[in-house]
Amino acid sequence: MRKYVIMGVQGSGKGTQSQLLAADLDLVHIGVGDIFRWNVQNHTKMGAQVRRTMAAGELVGDDLVESVVRDRLTQHDWNFGFIIDGFPRNRRQAEFFLESYDIDGVIVLDLPDSEVRRRVLNRRLCADCGMDYHLIDSSPKVAGRCDSCGGDLVTREDDTEEALAVRLRDYHEKTDPVIELFRRKEYVFTVDARSAPEAVQDQIRKCLRLPPMTARKPRGASEGSSPPVPVEARQPGAAGA
Ligand code: AMP
Repeated sequence: MRKYVIMGVQGSGKGTQSQLLAADLDLVHIGVGDIFRWNVQNHTKMGAQVRRTMAAGELVGDDLVESVVRDRLTQHDWNFGFIIDGFPRNRRQAEFFLESYDIDGVIVLDLPDSEVRRRVLNRRLCADCGMDYHLIDSSPKVAGRCDSCGGDLVTREDDTEEALAVRLRDYHEKTDPVIELFRRKEYVFTVDARSAPEAVQDQIRKCLRLPPMTARKPRGASEGSSPPVPVEARQPGAAGA
């Protein structure tokens, strides 16, 4: 059983790295932001509750976040373990988490703010299949169209200058202290996230003393592209809305 936390600013590749790690180790990837995004896209009661907060780049209230995480982990579909991404983001969430779960490692994806801005402000997502693109590093063959399904490429609602500024400020004010807290418990592995995704993944596995990747992930399976929770938990209000 392996239980990991992955942390890093917006655009540092948490979703991609979690999926690469989860794929051949049979871990369940729990993306807290993905759960909220799914609820927004599917117009649930919880989605209505968090939509504006998310679009502004602000953090959702701790009570709701904790109940989403608790409900998701209570599914117990993680026989081989889990990797949780986007949580905890402040001290209260970290304390809640540490009270209930042992952690085997915390991966911190380190990325300078200048690179975060370059990545986030050029990020586009297929509205139909969720494949992600970067207008400079991995642009689509036809501008504005998904290579895979032909869907429209859109900007995530929170990938704006204003929302990014809020998120970076929150990250440094509220999440950096959590990393320090974990560091004192000697859980933390910091990885330089500027390299290509597969090189970053190799570094993560070395730090965690895990075997190298067995399968390379096809580019693009993105956050939000697949349902982040089992069907029965995806009803309006099911995760504490
Ligand atoms: P992410 O995909 O991790 O960047 O999360 C997207 C958005 O979901 C964040 O900007 C917050 O509005 C919300 N969110 C995700 N995780 C948390 C969390 N642990 N605490 C508070 N808000 C969160």
